Amino acid sequence: MEADRLRSTIQEAFSNVSVPAGRIVSCPCPECEQLQVTFGGRQWASLSTHEVFIEAMSLSLLTLEAFHYYLPAYLCVSLQNDDESWDVRFQTTVFLGELLSKHPGEWADERQLVLSPNQVSAVVAYCEFIALTDEELIEEATKAHDQWVSLLDHEQ
Ligand SMILES: [Zn+2]
Repeated sequence: MEADRLRSTIQEAFSNVSVPAGRIVSCPCPECEQLQVTFGGRQWASLSTHEVFIEAMSLSLLTLEAFHYYLPAYLCVSLQNDDESWDVRFQTTVFLGELLSKHPGEWADERQLVLSPNQVSAVVAYCEFIALTDEELIEEATKAHDQWVSLLDHEQ
């Protein structure tokens, strides 16, 4: 699958998710406040590469609803070919692969279960694409792929 087609697949899979109305972080620390100010109320597709890059490690700070909405921003920026996008790709792929091992329990479970089968398929396709196209991230992308594809098996 080409990057452009994968981007469309991701956009389509997440097109039915609405911008979170309220706060997108639950913690009042400066780091989370910054994320609230940058992303809060914004359409994910309107976030610039640089804005996502600045928040490359922030997926775990988002509320469940905000994680569901803003994940495609991370996935789509990750498919671009520049240094900032690569950093987002690295952090996002590691996050997807370590979700269950790093945050075992309800927190991680609900972040996987909030995604529809279509959205999980898009995440799996993303991981496959990264494993095939980025030599530096084969290990991380394969780990992420295995974790998310098993979720799809359970749903079928
Ligand atoms: Zn915080």
